[in-house]
Amino acid sequence: MRFRVTFFILIASILPGIAQKDLRILPVPGFENRIINYIDTIRVIDTHEHLIGPEMLKDSYFLDFSLLFMQNGYDDLVSAGMPDTLFNTLFNQQIDPVSKWKIIEPYWNNSFNTSFNRMIIHSATSLYGISELNESTVGTLSEKIRKAHDSDWFDRIIRDSCRIDYFIKDGNYIPGKDGFVRYEKRFDDWLTIRSKYRIDSLAILQLDPIYSLDDFVRSLETAFEKELKNGMIAVKIFSSYYRTLQFEKTSADAAKKVFKTLVNGEEDFKISMKEAKPLQDYMLFKLLDLARKYDKPVAIHTGIQAGKGKIIGNSNPELLTNLFIDYPDVNFVLYHGSYPYGGELASLAKNYRNVYIDMNWVYAVSPTYSERYFNEWLEMVPVSRITAFGGDCMAVENVYSELLAAKRIISKVLIIKVKEGYITESEAMRIAKMIFHDNAAKLYKLN
Ligand SMILES: [Zn+2]
Repeated sequence: MRFRVTFFILIASILPGIAQKDLRILPVPGFENRIINYIDTIRVIDTHEHLIGPEMLKDSYFLDFSLLFMQNGYDDLVSAGMPDTLFNTLFNQQIDPVSKWKIIEPYWNNSFNTSFNRMIIHSATSLYGISELNESTVGTLSEKIRKAHDSDWFDRIIRDSCRIDYFIKDGNYIPGKDGFVRYEKRFDDWLTIRSKYRIDSLAILQLDPIYSLDDFVRSLETAFEKELKNGMIAVKIFSSYYRTLQFEKTSADAAKKVFKTLVNGEEDFKISMKEAKPLQDYMLFKLLDLARKYDKPVAIHTGIQAGKGKIIGNSNPELLTNLFIDYPDVNFVLYHGSYPYGGELASLAKNYRNVYIDMNWVYAVSPTYSERYFNEWLEMVPVSRITAFGGDCMAVENVYSELLAAKRIISKVLIIKVKEGYITESEAMRIAKMIFHDNAAKLYKLN
C-alpha cells in the first residue's frame, strides 16, 4: 500500500497543472422518453406466479371484486385487524359482492394506503374503469370482472398486454397453457418433515414403503424424477415460512436417529421443528444433490413471508451462505429482493457467482425499497444475475398492475443512472432487456 501511495504522489507531482476532467458521455436529449418507450414494449419472462387458471376460477366463489384481494390485499386487511377466520367467508362461500364489501370495508378504510392495496385500486381503475371501492362500485366491478373472464382475458392480459413470453408457475399445472407456462416444484414434504403421518402419506402416495432413511431419500429422488418428466424447470424452496434457512451439513447417523424416532412413534407422532432439524437439513442436501445432477436452478423464498405470524429472521438470505459455497455448480435464485435484507443480498450476489437476485413481488411489497435497492444492485452485482419481474400473484389483473409498477421503477432508476453519467442510454436499454427477459431465458433455458 505504501508503495502505491508513493507512486501516486510521484505521478501527481510530475504532472502538474492537469485539471480533473469529467469523462462522462453526456446523454443525448430525449433519452428519458426513449428509455421509457423501450421498456414499455419490452418482452418479458415472468419468473414467479401463483396464477389461478381460468377453469378453476370459473368454479370459484371469488370471481368478483374479491379476486383482486387474493393473497396480498387480504393479508393487509388482516394486518389492519380483520379476523383471519373470515378467509372462508370471503373466498369459499357464495356471498353477494355488497355483503362481502361490508365485511371488508372497515379494514380497507384502515389499510387503503399500503402498496398491496394501491395495486388493487390500480387494477380496478386501469382494467375496469373503476377508481374507488365502495358499496356502490363493488357490484359493477364484480360484473365487469365476471364478464372479462368469460372471454380469453387470461391469455390477453398475459400475452398481449404484458408481453410475457413465459411465466414460471409455482406448483400446480394450468390446463391448456403449456405454450407459455413453465413450472417450478416444491419438495417441502421432505424439507419440513416432522411427523410419522407425513412419512406414511408419502409411502402411500408413491405406493412404496418407507422403512429407512435410505427409503426416505429414495422417495425424494422418485418425486424429483417424476417432476422432471412432467417438465419441472426449477426447484422451489419455501422452508422459511416454517423454519430457519440455516441448513447445516448433517451426518447420516444424526439424520437416521431422528428418522427412527419418527417411524417408531404412534400414528399421530410429531416432533418439534428444532428436534427434526438434523433430518430436514440432511434432506435439503440430498435435494441440492439432485438439483446439481439434473442441472436445475434452486429458487428460494427469502425475506418477508406472506400471511401472518411468520418469523422474519428465518428468511435472512445470509443464512444460506454455506450452501452457495458447498454447491458452486448450482444456481441459487433468491426471491423477492430478500426484503428487508437488500444489502445482505447484494453482498451475497457479489461474492458468489451462483447467486441470483430475483425481484419478483418486491414492487408490491414496497416500490420505494425496489427503487432504492435496484439502484444499489446495479452498482454492486453483475447485471447478468438480476431478474426484474415476477408478479407472485393469483389474479392476472394484479400481474398487469405489478408489471406497470416494475417498469416505472426500473425506468426511473435507469434514467437517473444515465443522467448521472453512470451508464449510457444504450447500456440502460441493454440492462432492461437482460433483466426483463434474457437473464431469465438463459437461467431457466427458455428460448
Ligand atoms: Zn410466491
